[in-house]
Amino acid sequence: MIKPDGVQTRLIPEIINRFEEKHFSLKGMKLMSVERGLAEKHYEDLSGEHVFRRLVDYIVSSGPVVAMIWEGKNVVETVREMIGPTRPSDCEYATIRGEFGIDKIRNVIHGSDSVEIANKEIALWFPEGPVHWDKKINNYWNKFD
Ligand code: GDP
Ligand code: MG
Repeated sequence: MIKPDGVQTRLIPEIINRFEEKHFSLKGMKLMSVERGLAEKHYEDLSGEHVFRRLVDYIVSSGPVVAMIWEGKNVVETVREMIGPTRPSDCEYATIRGEFGIDKIRNVIHGSDSVEIANKEIALWFPEGPVHWDKKINNYWNKFD
C-alpha cells in the first residue's frame, strides 16, 4: 500500500516500476481514501502501541493511498527487502524507504509481513478479490512462470 506521503511525493510510477522490473505481476490496484475502520483493522496488531492513534489518523486524513496486489516468486519477502526498515534513516543500502522516506511514520509504503498476513490484507482491502486473467499473448517475458 503506497501511503499518502508516497502518493503526494509522486512515487506511484517509481514504485510500480521497481516491482515490474522484478517481474512481479499486478493483480489488483486502486487509489482510495481510507475509512477509519479499515485503517484500524489494518493496523490492529499495533492497537496497544503508542503510535496507533497517530498512525491511523495519518492514514485516514493525509490523502489517498494506492492499494495493490502483487504476485510472484518470493514476492512478500523480496518486497519487504526492497522497502527496507521502518525508519528510513536505518536503511543501510538502497531501499524505497531509504531513498524516499521522510520519517518513521511517513515512510512511503506498507508491505505485508508474511504470505499469511498478505492474504488477510488482500481480503481486507480487496473484498472483491484479485483480478484474474488468462494469458492471451505468449509468455516469453514471464521469467518466473
Ligand atoms: P512496518 O512493518 O515497517 O511498516 O512497521 P510496523 O508494522 O512496526 O509499523 C507500522 C507503521 O507504523 C510504520 O510503517 C510507521 O508508519 C508507523 N510507526 C511504527 N513505529 C512508529 C513510531 O515509533 N513512531 C511513529 N510516529 N510511527 C511509527
Ligand atoms: Mg508491519
